Amino acid sequence: MRVAVIGAGIAGVTTAYELARQGDEVTVYERGSSVAGEASFAGGGIVAAGHVAPRVLPDLGDMGGLRALAHVPWLWRWWRAGRPAVLAANRRALQQLAHDSRERMLELTRAQGLEYEQEPGLLVLLRDERDLKAAHATLALLAEWGVPHELVDAARCRALEPGLAESAPVHAAIHLAQDGVGNCRLFAQQLKTQAQRLGADFRLDAAVRGITPGAHPGVVDDDGQAHEFDAVVVCAGAQAAPLLTPLGLRLPLLPVHGYSVTAPLRHLDGLPRPGPRAALIDERMGVTIARLGQRVRASGGAVLGGSAAKVEVEPLRRLYRLLEEWFDGAAVTREAQHWKGAQPTLPDGPPVLGASGAPGVWLNVGHGASGWTLACGSARVLAEVVAGRAAPIDLERFSVARLK
Ligand SMILES: Cc1cc2nc3c(=O)[nH]c(=O)nc-3n(C[C@H](O)[C@H](O)[C@H](O)COP(=O)(O)OP(=O)(O)OC[C@H]3O[C@@H](n4cnc5c(N)ncnc54)[C@H](O)[C@@H]3O)c2cc1C
Repeated sequence: MRVAVIGAGIAGVTTAYELARQGDEVTVYERGSSVAGEASFAGGGIVAAGHVAPRVLPDLGDMGGLRALAHVPWLWRWWRAGRPAVLAANRRALQQLAHDSRERMLELTRAQGLEYEQEPGLLVLLRDERDLKAAHATLALLAEWGVPHELVDAARCRALEPGLAESAPVHAAIHLAQDGVGNCRLFAQQLKTQAQRLGADFRLDAAVRGITPGAHPGVVDDDGQAHEFDAVVVCAGAQAAPLLTPLGLRLPLLPVHGYSVTAPLRHLDGLPRPGPRAALIDERMGVTIARLGQRVRASGGAVLGGSAAKVEVEPLRRLYRLLEEWFDGAAVTREAQHWKGAQPTLPDGPPVLGASGAPGVWLNVGHGASGWTLACGSARVLAEVVAGRAAPIDLERFSVARLK
């Protein structure tokens, strides 16, 4: 089967790999000059099957009245998705996908010998008794889903993360030993090489202008040239909507912007490097802190709409403050790199996986704040359904129909 994949973020690269692995002739179109150059570039790096997509209402930032008004339908859908039965079904579906995804990521890691600064271990930090009380609902869900976890006290947190600042406000934490951190971009670059070995053709600086659905669907490139395939898979992240609207598909997909700060860890002669050993989430502040090789990365923020080009100073300052609060003096901040990226976000949480409704066109988009966690599982689903086989999970909560 000849398959076009549009977009080479983590969704596109993993999809291309799975399709090539099952023997498809894959062509990937990426408008940028490298893989994982957009949302998959420098996110928090957290792979958290046990803590997937907490429901956070994005900030409206300094959006003017009219622009805020344009987002009312999206916010209305977000609010409706908070009804207990819908919320529970979406959470469960996401957790199952995340679980499969982690298993697949581990399989690929072992089989291909991938090295992407991965470290196991995630602490969901609870700052005080109030956080601990609020965490009881999460603990009950983890128990119900059979996710291995442990509620640990401050002393155990410090044993697990000895670099925590003496004054760090740690009261307790949920320890998820199977979750952890990894560098999404490095993983994508290495899996791209594996996909190429299997014959996948990556065309960089190759934007797709349009899609023609049908028994032999096609893509139209930037020069207006049409190319025919047997299937087209859209993995265009936050930019998927303009490709899909002409097909009559209006996905409520919006960018939710966040930031990251990545800095080298201080090197002290004869001493182990300070900073985190693996991954931490400061739940109350909505911030992640993780080790990536010899660097530390803090990431957070969730502003609805806007543009990645407009970089604000305050969200970055906040990341520095929280990094210092948890791991004082660990980072060489004068050498830090700043990044702002757009999470491709649907209002109810799960991504859209599977048929688009337009003949020959398939979707793997809208993974929001958990695209790295969900990538390998989502790609597997796509490869199965494009081949006409049953998906490994129930796709009802991931269908495009739920958004109509
Ligand atoms: C600040 C931040 C922190 C995050 N932290 C985490 C985390 O800790 N854990 C986690 O699991 N997830 C995290 N995420 C979410 C995760 O990074 C995203 O969900 C994921 O990267 C989305 O991948 P994608 O492939 O769908 O999109 P992208 O990586 O954006 O890829 C889409 C690609 O499509 C290309 N494209 C678009 N239109 C076209 C076109 N017309 N023709 C050709 N190419 C096209 C783009 O150039 C782009 O390369 C974070 C995101 C952000 C922004």
